[in-house]
Amino acid sequence: MILPIAPLWAIPIRDIPNPRKLNGTWVSDVANILSAETESRLNQRISQLESRHGSELAVVTIPDTVPLPSPKAYATELFNTWGIGKRGIDNGVLLLISVKERRIEIETGRGITSQISNDQVAQIIETKIKPEFKLQKFDQGTINGVEEIASRLEQIRTPNFAFAPIYNGIGIFGVAIALGGITWTVLKINSWCQLLPSVYNLQSPLVFQIKIQQLHQVANAPMRLIAFGVGAIAISASALLWQDSATGWVLQLDRHFLALLMINAAIALISIPMWFGITYYWLAKLTKTLSTNLPHQIWKLFGTTILKNLWLLLSIQCSLLFVVAILISPSITSWIPSHLLFIAISLICAMSYQFFLIYVVNNVSVDDKIALEQYFCVTCRTPTQRLDEALFDTYLSKPEQLAVQLGNATYSLYSCDRCHPVTTRDRQHIYCHPNILKEESVCAKCHYPTVIAADLKQSRKPKKFPKQGSKNAISIRQCQNCFHEQPVYPYVPQPVSSSYYSGSSTDYSSSSSSYDSYDYGSSSSSSSDFGGGSSDGGGSGSDW
Ligand SMILES: [Zn+2]
Ligand SMILES: [Zn+2]
Ligand SMILES: [Zn+2]
Repeated sequence: MILPIAPLWAIPIRDIPNPRKLNGTWVSDVANILSAETESRLNQRISQLESRHGSELAVVTIPDTVPLPSPKAYATELFNTWGIGKRGIDNGVLLLISVKERRIEIETGRGITSQISNDQVAQIIETKIKPEFKLQKFDQGTINGVEEIASRLEQIRTPNFAFAPIYNGIGIFGVAIALGGITWTVLKINSWCQLLPSVYNLQSPLVFQIKIQQLHQVANAPMRLIAFGVGAIAISASALLWQDSATGWVLQLDRHFLALLMINAAIALISIPMWFGITYYWLAKLTKTLSTNLPHQIWKLFGTTILKNLWLLLSIQCSLLFVVAILISPSITSWIPSHLLFIAISLICAMSYQFFLIYVVNNVSVDDKIALEQYFCVTCRTPTQRLDEALFDTYLSKPEQLAVQLGNATYSLYSCDRCHPVTTRDRQHIYCHPNILKEESVCAKCHYPTVIAADLKQSRKPKKFPKQGSKNAISIRQCQNCFHEQPVYPYVPQPVSSSYYSGSSTDYSSSSSSYDSYDYGSSSSSSSDFGGGSSDGGGSGSDW
């Protein structure tokens, strides 16, 4: 760019025309010392450099560097004002020529400094530019300088593509995904708590039980989404760390993979409060819905769960080392793009730690009250109250009271005092949970646990028991509620193996049962096994 008149006064930096913005070129000849041919030649060369290699080179001539304290300060200021070089790669160079001060400054970007030392820069000025400038050959000196800088830059192996915006994008994407996952988790917990009575173990129309103790049964997918989001954040964070390292964006996974694991472990550490928050919200919401007390010292529970599973964390760490060691082996790095590999390793590491934390969240034990599978009222979702045994006479049916007296069963009665206060309490609204102590005492006919062993003499119809083989019944089992009777035959050992008894002439029958049900009411019944049914007092029995 040639100005018609070279200004004789100092020019503020903001008034130096930016050639990139002006017409997409690289040279700003404010001091007007370069010919039009030189400018176009320089622009051509620098454009070639930029398209081939990605680095940027600006050439600026100015009358003087007043009011800044030194030409160096002026160069640095101008360099950063324009932002020469790609963001994140910092691969820019500024060649500044101040005419009155007879000063040449070459300012290099952060990504270049480690590749071309300040001594080398000084050498370029001394050998390529100064000799020509001393002879007033500004065109040739500038061309020499630009040629030398460009060829030096082209030898540096830096990517010609700015990855920083992509990694920043991945980070923002990760934050969005993680926040979305957290929101989804909260929504899932809320909706689950609203559905609570309808989804869990309805024992009767009156009560339900909580068997769930792990959050993953409620919010599995959302928590995985959070883990994925944190993984994306980890990629971005690891990338940012690489950005500041001396090698710029040339990833050296083999040299830094331990550091990579450390970064991911640090991110896992930072994410612990978030997972604790989710755990706390889950327990708080659950206990509030069920009107129980929040487990105290959740932090302690959380911490001990992590400590208890340290072995798991260590094995994750070891397998990660193994996987990463394989991934960064030369045979793999040669055919997978290093950025892809970097993303894969970061994601694998970060998500492994996140899945460990999800495991911890799922294993923080819920309040004892909930873990004990208490009965909750379907109507108001509060824990029901267990009634005292003194109330058995009031609320148990006659056969149930009989079963308790015989020692065959006990009953637990649960009533919701909120929905049915003591004054209006009735059996219809009490959940009666039977606890059968002797499984064989359940009557096949009336289903109450009211069967006891009795003497044959106590039988009401002893003659009716058929013989089993040659044996008569020796005793009976009699239901004290409906007086259904079962004969008991003497124990007959069964042949252990047919070959062992082959020489024997005894006439063991093939009958396999020593108990044979004989039913007075319905003779068609031939089963000697119980179906496992239970009764709430239905059916009837009568004497004859
Ligand atoms: Zn209730
Ligand atoms: Zn009622
Ligand atoms: Zn019975």
